[in-house]
Amino acid sequence: RNLSGNQIREDFLRFFEGKGHRRVHSSSLVPANDPTLLFTNAGMNQFKDVFLGAEKREYTRATTSQKCVRAGGKHNDLENVGFTRRHHTFFEMLGNFSFGDYFKKDAIAYAWELLTSPDWFGIPKDKLYVTVFEGNDSVPRDDEAEAMWIETGVPADRIFGMPAKDNFWQMGDTGPCGPCSEIFYDLGVEAAEEAGTDKPFPQDDQRYVEVWNLVFMQFDRSSDGTLTPLPKQSVDTGMGLERISAVLQGKLSNYESDLFTPLITAAQRLTGFQSELSLDQLAISDTKGAPSLRIIADHARCATFLISDGVLPSNEGRGYVLRKILRRGIRHGRLLGQEKPFMHEMVLAVRDEMKTAYPELVESAERVAKVVLAEEQQFARTLELGLRNMTEDVLRNGAKAFSLYETFGMPLDFMVDAARDARIEFDVEGFERAKLEEQQRARASWKGGSQKTAAPVYRELAQTVFEGYGATRVDGAKVIALV
Ligand code: ATP
Ligand code: MG
Ligand code: MG
Ligand code: MG
Repeated sequence: RNLSGNQIREDFLRFFEGKGHRRVHSSSLVPANDPTLLFTNAGMNQFKDVFLGAEKREYTRATTSQKCVRAGGKHNDLENVGFTRRHHTFFEMLGNFSFGDYFKKDAIAYAWELLTSPDWFGIPKDKLYVTVFEGNDSVPRDDEAEAMWIETGVPADRIFGMPAKDNFWQMGDTGPCGPCSEIFYDLGVEAAEEAGTDKPFPQDDQRYVEVWNLVFMQFDRSSDGTLTPLPKQSVDTGMGLERISAVLQGKLSNYESDLFTPLITAAQRLTGFQSELSLDQLAISDTKGAPSLRIIADHARCATFLISDGVLPSNEGRGYVLRKILRRGIRHGRLLGQEKPFMHEMVLAVRDEMKTAYPELVESAERVAKVVLAEEQQFARTLELGLRNMTEDVLRNGAKAFSLYETFGMPLDFMVDAARDARIEFDVEGFERAKLEEQQRARASWKGGSQKTAAPVYRELAQTVFEGYGATRVDGAKVIALV
């Protein structure tokens, strides 16, 4: 069946509703009660206290499509974006959750039914592989899960044991933890040939794509490291919507799915870069501007959802990650020949694609576009002066790079990123040395205190955000405090 990304999201939620799960709306990308977390990066985040038993809900089964950002912080996929076919900064994680209700057996049976039943996703069984935790010194191999997969209909030779790195999950150094099972899809020999790889599962990550992670919260780890079985065992699963969409649409890359092609088309229109490559080729090619178009499409989604959830560009914390993402998008626009602001118009393209699932975008998009435009205009002034001086020689020479940073405000990460694209080794040490020397000089001649101030335009916009959110969106206020 050829399902659109929007239909796949809806089918997933409907399937689990049919299994007694409560459909819960995605939480904000700014975690509500968790200062340890930069951005929401998994479906389970909003249920953390429920898993810990600190919060009670009126349901014991839930299903969500959760907005996630993995840029900065513990999971950081920012560098991957544009270069792998399956990583985004912003993505949607489809999940089903059991809070002390069902455990491994049902979680496995549900996942298999949804993926393979002809009434649902109808994936041929011989295209799937499954992993289980192989065991280590403190936890035995998850034979239980393996037996259940076999009982569900997975041939034993398609089940592989994997180490803790991939298949053991823990919330922190203490607390709930347990083995995982992951489901992989085989893109086929063409994918391997096209990528110039061909190794058997699980070694070839071009050919076999991880689509779904089932986490079994089985144990409680105490501070001395002992594991005791949890009184109420729970389940947390996560499947990337963009990956399963590419799979069900018969594509090699997430960027070839219908969640991305309209954005790649918009990026071409708005940058004025018309490629002779087809959309399918643009989704996988490493040349001719294709990575830049993918980066713009990805970063536009990420920036749109972050700003919509109350983050504003700034020089620290969440706002800094957002700023970095926006500037990277802008730089790739320049690489494609667009020197005028364009990212703010990408925001409207993102809204048009995503508004059915996230109606809040209809309300916020105009404001988001204004924030992006302001950042584009401000950054353009830096670039006008600085870019002309950002030569390969400068990128190789830390002292010169530092001078560009000092004189024109050219951001460090921007230069590092540019060097990476040009396959030049950026002189980090030289840069740091020059920076240190400058700081010492400054300290020696220090006369008065310095004050951190936000550009007035942001203060104004911050005000709008604050009013827009009202009392229900406390997180908006928190972020404004950063500006
Ligand atoms: P990978 O090994 O591919 O980086 P992961 O093991 O880090 O993925 P999990 O933490 O298990 O990912 O998250 C659950 C699911 O979310 C993954 O199986 C995948 O489908 C999806 N996912 C994870 N990271 C990303 C990302 N950066 N972009 C898109 N989808 C993602
Ligand atoms: Mg990862
Ligand atoms: Mg993985
Ligand atoms: Mg995983």
